[in-house]
Amino acid sequence: MHLSQTQQLQGTNAKENTRLFAQLRAHGLRPTSARVWILQVLLDAAHSSLSAERVFQQILKHGVRVSLATIYRVLQELVQCKLAQREWHVVDSLGKSLYLVAPAVLPPSSYAFACRICQRQIVVADRQLNDHLHRQAKAADFELELATISIQVTCNNCVAGMPE
Ligand SMILES: [Zn+2]
Repeated sequence: MHLSQTQQLQGTNAKENTRLFAQLRAHGLRPTSARVWILQVLLDAAHSSLSAERVFQQILKHGVRVSLATIYRVLQELVQCKLAQREWHVVDSLGKSLYLVAPAVLPPSSYAFACRICQRQIVVADRQLNDHLHRQAKAADFELELATISIQVTCNNCVAGMPE
């Protein structure tokens, strides 16, 4: 697949591209356009898995030309280096394998409630909340530091101990 730098940056966020490039390199894979696009499409699907055909359709929507054979090959590579996962026991209605992005590639998935008074912290691990927050943050170019979120509230114990 041949793709100019401009085409690459039109469809995806440049900062996220940088993050994906780094992850591919860390796993010994050269960040080719096909690899970056496929990871990006899996990442955009967040926690839902996609068949190779579906990945192919999504990439075509971005105006990128790539063959289905390339998609299959790259998906295998990504699975081998654990950047993507194949759902072994799940197939779509046509009996095709489904793929999803590995947890390591997903944006950080925990936020914390922090008590202003006693500094106690409770991790909020809610996938749906995380997905929603990430989508909104991404749309507004705020996702890179999203993991540092903590929600400052006063815990019930500290509220109970406050003078009336
Ligand atoms: Zn407290």
